[in-house]
Parts: sequence; structure tokens; C-alpha cells
Amino acid sequence: MRIDNARHWKLEAQPMPSDRIQQDLEQRAQQQIREGRLPAATPYRTWGGHGSNEPCALCDVVIRSDEVEYEIETMEAPGRRQYRFHFLCHDAWQNACAQVT
Ligand SMILES: [Zn+2]
Repeated sequence: MRIDNARHWKLEAQPMPSDRIQQDLEQRAQQQIREGRLPAATPYRTWGGHGSNEPCALCDVVIRSDEVEYEIETMEAPGRRQYRFHFLCHDAWQNACAQVT
């Protein structure tokens, strides 16, 4: 059963809803792609796993071992490079790739 008042309360209790965070991450990803710090849509391999306590390529926050980590490896010349992302940051990077040309 749904109560409208409860919905209102929830909005006020979350000053930064997750879609806002996602938007910020995408903007950051777009900027880093333009600066060449992150790859744009290039051929790459990706795999997920547990965090390796290394900083995320997008947000610089350490990906803890109890979090999901996405690793990508770009196949582009001159050499392969690896990047790690949080689940959300990987998502944001992919969206940013689609917007940056
Ligand atoms: Zn991150």
C-alpha cells in the first residue's frame, strides 16, 4: 500500500538522489575523456570482479574488496591500458562515451 506522505518524506531525506550522482559522474567522465585521461569509445575488453583496493579511474575513490569492480583493457595502439571502475562509474563512463565524439 502506498502513502503519498511517505514519498514526500523520502525525497527530503535524500539530498542527493542517485540519479543526480549519476549525472555528476557522467559529466566528470565526459571531461576526463576530453582531457584524454579516460578512453573514448574504443575497442576494449571488460570484466568484473571484487575490488582490489585500488582507486577508481573516474572518481579516484578506492574500490574496496567488498565492492564490485569493473576492469577494462583498451585494445588501441600504441599500447594496452587498464582502467578500473566502480559499477556506477563504469556505467557513467559508457554513457559519457556515447555523448562525447
Ligand atoms: Zn568510481
